[in-house]
This record gives sequence, structure tokens and C-alpha cells, in this order.
Amino acid sequence: MIDDDRHRIERADPPDRRRALRGAAGAALAGAFAAGGTGAVVAGCTGGGRTDTGHEHTGRAATGQGDTGDTHGGSSGTGSGSGGTDSGRGTDTPGRTDTGRPAARSAPSPRRFPGQPVEIAHGPRDRGRVALTFHGQGDPATATAVLKEAERAGAGITVLAVGTWLDEHPSLARRILDGGHDLGNHTLHHTDISAMDEDEAFAEITGCATRLRRLTGSIGSWFRPSRTQHATPLVQRLARRAGYPHVLSYDVDSLDFTSPGAAAVTRTVTGRVRDGSIVSLHFGYADTVAALPALLDALERRDLRAVTTTELLT
Ligand SMILES: [Zn+2]
Repeated sequence: MIDDDRHRIERADPPDRRRALRGAAGAALAGAFAAGGTGAVVAGCTGGGRTDTGHEHTGRAATGQGDTGDTHGGSSGTGSGSGGTDSGRGTDTPGRTDTGRPAARSAPSPRRFPGQPVEIAHGPRDRGRVALTFHGQGDPATATAVLKEAERAGAGITVLAVGTWLDEHPSLARRILDGGHDLGNHTLHHTDISAMDEDEAFAEITGCATRLRRLTGSIGSWFRPSRTQHATPLVQRLARRAGYPHVLSYDVDSLDFTSPGAAAVTRTVTGRVRDGSIVSLHFGYADTVAALPALLDALERRDLRAVTTTELLT
């Protein structure tokens, strides 16, 4: 339907996929791979290690495609999904969720947090809480493995989902919510939103918002811009117009998208994290899955509880 292979970034190498399988144990994972994983993306939220060339490349790709028309029309994600006629499409059956529970409740809407800046990069520094936030894209098996590891440790996480990823794996939206996690908007295609003109950038935000609304009844709790740590003033304004009072940044970059090994991911985060931190991590990488148990242990030893971003700020 809307899916377009040109938007795929790159598939992970077969060894990465094998490592993912080993690192994220469980028969369910093999099933998820068989169901058609899309492979891990190579670049992270900020465009990967080679920031300059990556920026240039993604900027050109974004402007050259011109296929964001499916969400054009000037209406916000809120408005375009309010007709109630789209509830029959893309909804998963209750039996599809990992927990086996029916997915009934409507997801929370974005909130304004008084006293917080438009762009939020961390929470209060004195409550013993941190938020692990994940770029939501890539292989569904590693996504599910991250969710399970977090839940095993009693941690809440925040998933910023890419719209096309939701098209490919619609049941994951409910799976995330049913686990008690936050679900948010990470643009429709995860291209360089900072380089787009107003119409294109707005369509990237509302394109994902529409999908979230269709799947969950809400445009998602958060918006995080794609391929940048910081939103431009234009993107902040467009996010607000689409229904998001804040944009979600972070103060700790795990660099997990560079696949440095699980130990390095844990070391990087534990070396930089402090009370109130918002940590940037990614679905789709075996290192992230493998790093999570040690990372969550290390946080616990420092009396830092991993909570959803909503909890962090509430
Ligand atoms: Zn991202």
C-alpha cells in the first residue's frame, strides 16, 4: 500500500541478524524473524557516525521523493483521523498481542508539562528516575526482545515509532502500550526533517500521527524529530500545530546505532547518565538488546529507576 522500498535504509548484514537471534533468546524471536523482519537501520536518530555526509544524503533523498502527498491537505493529524471511519483498518486482533490480553484502552494523548521547555532533554534531577527512549524502527524481533527485557526488570520505556515501521508491523503499537510503555511519533519516514520545507515537514509529522491514531486512538504521547537531536524552531512550531506541545530530545546518546558492542553501549550510557536523564537508544540493534540487562542492573545499583518519559516528568 503505502510502503515503498525506496524508503528502507539498509538491511543488516546476515551476521548481525544471527547475533540478534543469539542475543535475544527465545523461540518467539525465531517466529518473528520468519514473519518477515525488515532488518536494522544503519544510521541512528542523528544520521549515524558520519554526520556530515549522512545529513547531505538524507536531505537530498527527502526532497527528491515528493511522495508525502498521502498526508497532505493541511489538516493536522488530529483532524484527519477524527472521522472515525478508519477504525476498521489495520487494527490487530486481541490474540496478536504477546500478552494475550485484549487491546482495548485508548492510548494517552500528548500533554503539556507546565514549567518544562518546548524541547525537553531531561527531567527533574532529584527524583532518582531516568527515561530510556527508543527509536522505533527495524527488526520486530529485536523490538520485542527490548520490550521483554525492560518488562522483566520492571522498567518502563518510551518508543518513538517511525510511521512506515508501524505500517509494516501494526501490532507492535498495541504491544508497546500493553506493556505499560509510552508510544510516540518519530515522523513518517525518518528522513532529515530539519532540511525540509514547511509542507514536507508537517506531512512527516502528521503522517505518523495519523497512523498512531488509527492504531491506538491517539496521536501518541510524544514527538521526536528525525535525524536530529534538536528540533528547529520551524519543526517545534509544526509539532505544536499537529498537537504536540513539546518535542522530545535527550541528554545522553548511547551511540548504540554504531554497533560498538553491548559492553560499550552499557559503558557509554552509565558513564553519561545522571538523575533525570533521557537516554537515546534504538530498536533494531542486537547490541542494544544484549546491553539492556547490564544497563538496567547498573541503573538500579545507582538508585536510578527507568520509567516512561511521562512518569519522569510527572
Ligand atoms: Zn530516530
